[in-house]
Amino acid sequence: MTTVYLNGTFLPLEEAQISVMDRGFLFGDGVYEVIPVYDRQPFRLHEHLARLQASLDGIRLTNPHGADAWESLIMQIVASAEWQDQGVYLQVTRGPGPRDHAFPKIIQPTVFIMPMPLSPPSAESVEHGVSAITATDNRWLRCDLKVTSLLPNVLLRQLSVDADCAETVLIRDGQLIEGSASSVFIVQRGVLLAPPKTNLMLPGITYDVVLELAAAEGMDCVIRPISEAELRSADEIWLTSSTKEVMAVSRLDGQPVGSGQPGPLFRRMHAHYQTFKHTVM
Ligand code: PMP
Repeated sequence: MTTVYLNGTFLPLEEAQISVMDRGFLFGDGVYEVIPVYDRQPFRLHEHLARLQASLDGIRLTNPHGADAWESLIMQIVASAEWQDQGVYLQVTRGPGPRDHAFPKIIQPTVFIMPMPLSPPSAESVEHGVSAITATDNRWLRCDLKVTSLLPNVLLRQLSVDADCAETVLIRDGQLIEGSASSVFIVQRGVLLAPPKTNLMLPGITYDVVLELAAAEGMDCVIRPISEAELRSADEIWLTSSTKEVMAVSRLDGQPVGSGQPGPLFRRMHAHYQTFKHTVM
């Protein structure tokens, strides 16, 4: 049985219910986070809670809990779940109210937290990399907010499912932005390149971890805009996210990336990440 938290109560997932008038349901009016947990220790919890705050600020919703209260709720979910490694999904919506685009004056936000099994990349995809396609980024101009209105991401992700690929890499105005559910890095002549954080991409927590590990590994690393042409001629392409960690793209739009196998920098980064995720809170 999976125990979840909903508005002050811990209860079985099957019994958790919200109003059909919830603005999360009617408008996708809410924000969320996914926090990876290794050996029942949340990884980068404070960074996830800081991004949650930024998303809440971005949609003008007061944070219903302070950091200590969030941590306590999350730790209770982590303890109750059956998995040592898990992902904690949390979401805050503006809550139930009359169906009107404008915010109601008085409203109680809906807070939901649930544990999920983590499914890190298979040994096969680490060894051989995954295939990805590209698509034009047609999302809005606040992709830095982690909002539950994910329909554009859902449709973009489905393009890669339809093409039997692991991710859709998004390009806007000739620049690499990110994946439909991941951050994207490239390696060019031994240098790790990362697109800069702007309003057009989610500030990935794993993106920051990878940049820290790259510095610790002494990898040359530059944060700057990356053109579509550079993406297509990259020696390596990496995808990163809290649930998928670091993955190599070995084929993009049907073409081999570099040698067509995960590259040497990826192998170093992947190995470092595997130890790091277990050693640090
Ligand atoms: N970009 C998008 C659009 C995402 O959905 C995700 C996954 N949450 C990421 C980037 C990676 O973010 P993180 O490393 O914090 O999981």
